[in-house]
Amino acid sequence: MTSTLSTARPKIDETHLHAAPRTQVPERLLLGPGPSNAHPSVVEAMNYQPIGHLDPAYLQLMDEVQSLLRYTWQTSNPMTLPVSGTGSAAMEATLANTVEPDDVVLVGVNGYFGHRMMDMAERYRADVRSIHKSWGEVFSLEEIRAALEEHRPRILGLVHAETSTGACQPLEGVGDLCREYDCLLLADTVTSLGGMPLFLDEWKVDLAYSCSQKGLSCPPGSSPFTMSDRALEKMDRRQTKVANWYLDMSLIRNYWGQGRTYHHTAPVNMTYAIRAALRLVADERLEQVWHRHRACAEQLWAGLEDMGIFCHVPHEYRLTTLTTVRVPDGVDPKAVTKAMLADHNIEIGNGLGELGGKVWRIGLMGHNSRPENVDRVLAAMKQVMGR
Ligand SMILES: *Cc1c(COP(=O)(O)O)cnc(C)c1O
Repeated sequence: MTSTLSTARPKIDETHLHAAPRTQVPERLLLGPGPSNAHPSVVEAMNYQPIGHLDPAYLQLMDEVQSLLRYTWQTSNPMTLPVSGTGSAAMEATLANTVEPDDVVLVGVNGYFGHRMMDMAERYRADVRSIHKSWGEVFSLEEIRAALEEHRPRILGLVHAETSTGACQPLEGVGDLCREYDCLLLADTVTSLGGMPLFLDEWKVDLAYSCSQKGLSCPPGSSPFTMSDRALEKMDRRQTKVANWYLDMSLIRNYWGQGRTYHHTAPVNMTYAIRAALRLVADERLEQVWHRHRACAEQLWAGLEDMGIFCHVPHEYRLTTLTTVRVPDGVDPKAVTKAMLADHNIEIGNGLGELGGKVWRIGLMGHNSRPENVDRVLAAMKQVMGR
């Protein structure tokens, strides 16, 4: 029999496909819970030809990304690198590498992402326990101590910046408690990295993750991950293989570390992008970045109050990167977000989970955190709500 491959024709009819036009992307100001707009220099950095993932120039780039990431997170962990994928991939990497079946994992749940952490830990067959607070509140050190005493976990997971509620869980002192109870501290810093003060080493955080598309002014797809030597030790003492090949840091470290052994093809252009994004943070300096986010958040809160609209979270625990705003009585929240997008090209977020229909979520993250954007969103809200 002769091969028909040389004369093969597609079997699925193509006549209904339109001649592909250039991708049309509307110009939006992304002031929701993420993604936020990428900085023009980041978009420009992505726009080069890929190079090989073992090219010496690429290996140099990886080193730069790692140093910049350590600075941004204030950690000296050697295992600090971007995971290929969005924040949830880096989130899963923290658990996949350290959880062994029947390990007690305790999660502080005060919003949507605490639930996701529990779900992931369960899938790695952890014995998952949880403590709860209502959405918008945070845990006190006393409550955390009592829970550690009761559950004696191997890992305590907390969400530093709960994007679903707008609350910031203080981490000072939690790491010391975790050392006292011999457990690892895992922190979700997806909405705080690149916007709010983070001192991973000082706070004794053992595992942390973030994303590129919120505080780092970068498109989604390259997600910061870090693990301390204590976390590495737990991984190295595993009796079982890491139950996720793609995210297995015992393999990936041979590529990011000395060995430079191929594991999976790096999303090269995303590495260009995150390098440029982290470079922006370093050029501006962290202290100024944090200060700018706080100043813009204060400007937003004051403007909302002038309109007679109030924030969901007490001032003390508010994220400066994301504000949850209570929907006034008689207002249809979804009609407002729809009109904001349609008439003003501004995206803000609706409430999620328990806060669905009760709040809007306004993000001022990374490059988007600028006074003129605060003015724009306030003016648009005034216009839309005035109708
Ligand atoms: C956005 C977010 C995530 C998930 O990140 P993705 O990039 O959407 O996968 C996890 N945790 C928090 C707190 C987030 O805000």
